[in-house]
Amino acid sequence: MSNVLLPLGSSIGILGGGQLGRMIAMSCIELGYKSFVYCPQGDNPAVEVSSQHIIGDWNNNLLLNKFISSVDAVTIEFENIPIEVIQKVEQKLLVYPNSKVLRTSQYRPYEKKYAKLSGIDVPRWWLVNSKNDLEFAMNELDGKGILKTSSFGYDGKGQLKITKKDTPDKIWEIIKGKEFILEEFVNFNSEISFLICRRKNKEFCMFPPTENKHKDGILNKSIAPADLSEETWLSGAAKVSKLAEDLDLNGLLAVEFFLLENGKLLFNEMAPRPHNSFHWTMDGLSCSQFNQLVRCITGVPFGDISISSSWEMINLLSENFSDLTKYYSEKNKIYLYNKNGIKTKRKLGHINRLIN
Ligand code: AMP
Repeated sequence: MSNVLLPLGSSIGILGGGQLGRMIAMSCIELGYKSFVYCPQGDNPAVEVSSQHIIGDWNNNLLLNKFISSVDAVTIEFENIPIEVIQKVEQKLLVYPNSKVLRTSQYRPYEKKYAKLSGIDVPRWWLVNSKNDLEFAMNELDGKGILKTSSFGYDGKGQLKITKKDTPDKIWEIIKGKEFILEEFVNFNSEISFLICRRKNKEFCMFPPTENKHKDGILNKSIAPADLSEETWLSGAAKVSKLAEDLDLNGLLAVEFFLLENGKLLFNEMAPRPHNSFHWTMDGLSCSQFNQLVRCITGVPFGDISISSSWEMINLLSENFSDLTKYYSEKNKIYLYNKNGIKTKRKLGHINRLIN
């Protein structure tokens, strides 16, 4: 079913209305397809570039049915869409990614278990549902760690660093009421992301890995290709393709790793959608991550993703948006999302720049 070429002009449904949806919709146009965005009320920059849209809640079955009957395949642009919505869509249409992949990436304990099963090394971690769990985990950890909400965390949200000085009593007062995992603090050399695009018929392509620099838990800059030894590059790529195969991935999967001093990669998290750290692909490759996703969904052959130069991508957030004017030069490619920037740490655009 997934190898059937969708006729030009078919409509690709996009769940979510953020900047990733906006850039997917723009690639639909590039390749001769229509886009149809479904998203709840809010700041939805995908809407103004999509062929059609519906503003509706995730539990509005009437509107969801209307959306489902108007599109030919569906993708997502953020991973915290209720799994029931994906399962509902799946009864009628192919969804990229399928609900199994999405469910795994929505829950940190599942994603870590899957990563480990696929042969990827994972930092030590403990599930925390009670004060007893927390005491046990802090005792075992015996040092620095990070508490992360099991679900709905992104861009460093829902995280709390702890040190040996913290007591379980004090920490429990802050976190009680939600499920967390406690993860050991990793002294990494750098952060690396891999991105794979895979069709159901097992054909796949692996994008060149990227090195990421974070500030306050949020991506600040990406540099591609990452400066990795051939061994680390190949072993990372092999592990990511094994994970994609084990999950029976259809669509994109980004996997973030910590790179250790000894060249080993430790799993951090994954996201089955276009990823901020691969926005440089819009200029650095002949086929961007968004374009490749649309090719994957529609059955158009994959585009070339070999890299011949180095690129950097700088995020424009609410905090550094005033830097925009300094980027107005020929060498910088500017992408603005037309979002309202009042909230802190909001991603408002990005810059792609050729390094050499
Ligand atoms: P996350 O949302 O889990 O990707 O976390 C955001 C950022 O926090 C990561 O990109 C890292 O810079 C940092 N971080 C997350 N987990 C750890 C860890 N176990 N050890 C050290 N730094 C971490």
